[in-house]
Amino acid sequence: MSIAYLNGSWQPLEEARVSVLDRGFMFGDGVYEVIPVYQGKPFAEDEHLARLATSLKELHIMMPRSEDDWQELFREAIDRGDEDEAILYVQVTRGVAESRSHIYEDSEPTVLITLSPRVTPGLDHKLSVVTKEDFRWARGHIKVISLAANSLAKNEAIAEGYDDAILVRDGKVTEASSSNVFIVKDSVIVTPIADNHLLHGITRAQVIALAKQHDLPFEERDISEDELLAADEVWVTATSIEVWPVHKVNNQWIGNGEVGLVYQKVYNLFQELKCQSN
Ligand code: PMP
Repeated sequence: MSIAYLNGSWQPLEEARVSVLDRGFMFGDGVYEVIPVYQGKPFAEDEHLARLATSLKELHIMMPRSEDDWQELFREAIDRGDEDEAILYVQVTRGVAESRSHIYEDSEPTVLITLSPRVTPGLDHKLSVVTKEDFRWARGHIKVISLAANSLAKNEAIAEGYDDAILVRDGKVTEASSSNVFIVKDSVIVTPIADNHLLHGITRAQVIALAKQHDLPFEERDISEDELLAADEVWVTATSIEVWPVHKVNNQWIGNGEVGLVYQKVYNLFQELKCQSN
């Protein structure tokens, strides 16, 4: 069942309503988090709450709940939703303004939490992606709700017959439309540096930690578009898809088009991590 907590009250998701003067609606002025629930428990809760705090701070929006309150609300959402595998979606906007104005005044943030069943894509579906110019703003590390640019990139890619877009800024890979990018070349795992042009993915950080713990060669550095195309393996990471293989970029096969050995190892380690955390 999909349920929602909105500013203190629980209701079915489709009945939840906010004012048109909410700055989230008017300006996309808010932030969000997507937290996976495995076996009835939130996964990497502390990391998600820390990123929420960073995003709010960057937009000068007040943190509306304490850490304990969030944790309590997440438990309640899981209990009410009655799902073992689910996705917790958390959104905080600057709140309802008196009138539409670019200038914001102090307002009570709007707090939304939803819990929806987790829908996992079939593991046999490897992704075919296309590279596109990254024309987004230069604060990609903030998890803002205004996702028009990301959404446009993904939908354009789909309209062209691909599954997704990998974004390239000044010749360097930043991230995909809703995930982080990893390549493998000569057994070395490489991912772009987490700067202001990409989201500092929680899954990305978990994969890096696993690589380090298990002595897998790893580098955090720029990846050129040419390097992406010449990689032995390409994967993307995100809460919703965990670690997912890409087998084609710009209609060109990556490696032999099959799932790579390093991917397989990291995928298995990630599954173990999920089990250990419960
Ligand atoms: N980059 C972008 C643009 C995203 O939207 C997401 C997922 N929301 C990610 C990366 C991956 O982040 P995470 O692993 O924390 O889900």
